[in-house]
Amino acid sequence: MSERFVSVVIVGARGRMGQTLLRAVLDSEDMTLSGAVDRTESPGMGDDAAKLCGLPASGVLLSDELRPPRGSIVVDFSLPGAADANIARCLELGVPLVLGTTGISGETRDLLKRAGKEIPIVSAANFSVGITLLTQLAAMAARALGPEFDTEIFELHHRHKRDAPSGTALRIGKAIAQATERNFDEVAVRSRNTTETQRTTEEIGISALRGGDSAGEHTVMFLGPGERLEITHRATDRGIFAHGALRAARWLVGRPPGLYDMADVLGIARR
Ligand code: NAD
Repeated sequence: MSERFVSVVIVGARGRMGQTLLRAVLDSEDMTLSGAVDRTESPGMGDDAAKLCGLPASGVLLSDELRPPRGSIVVDFSLPGAADANIARCLELGVPLVLGTTGISGETRDLLKRAGKEIPIVSAANFSVGITLLTQLAAMAARALGPEFDTEIFELHHRHKRDAPSGTALRIGKAIAQATERNFDEVAVRSRNTTETQRTTEEIGISALRGGDSAGEHTVMFLGPGERLEITHRATDRGIFAHGALRAARWLVGRPPGLYDMADVLGIARR
């Protein structure tokens, strides 16, 4: 096998994202599939992974064990409960990781930070180029508009999504809070079921809607006196997340240890 090939192991291979990633890797000209993992109870264990996305046999069988070969990169889009074991395995074997799973716990974040000291990791709640830019633009707008403008974030996703609000909405909120020197955990308001309290100027409201088959919509609103600015991103195809995750995997090749995000991959990180 030529060294220019990026060797990829996909975790969560039977899932919606996993299948999109499988197809993207198998269709690509510079990547090779070296593993496909899902949980033990999943149907099709031991079958050729390419069968999952209707492509000709790849020679890689669906497995319930993560054993990334040396030189490969793990791309994990599974479920939060699986993240710790997958990070630990990458750490143990010195294999770089692209982590797309959302809804991960604070403990998992701490583990990621520790692991990032020894292996290169790209972790992002949203691998789309558009959302990465939206996050930076929203932070810039919040700084420029100041406290006269109220900030509200709205997101809509398909009916199967488990975590709410989305990891992306939280990430956008954190970026805005950071840009305006607010503590996100103190100012984030995730539901408005009260008839007794008005919103404060510091608040960052986040509302979520679930239904249908939307691949993800996010709108940041800045509501000021006499004017309103809205920045919206609509994902119409989950291929964009796979495309971004594989761009991150390519970027990780030969990278020093660190915990990176998609803004680093695009070269637009503000540190
Ligand atoms: P899904 O439910 O369709 O797929 C998840 C897959 O993971 C399933 O096949 C499941 O069997 C498998 N899985 C569960 N536990 C596992 C384990 N211990 N080991 C291996 N596999 C395991 O979900 P999805 O829509 O494909 O999304 C997967 C994750 O990716 C979610 O957390 C979702 O929010 C996230 N996501 C992230 C982005 C992004 O850009 N970061 C984009 C879309 C989805």
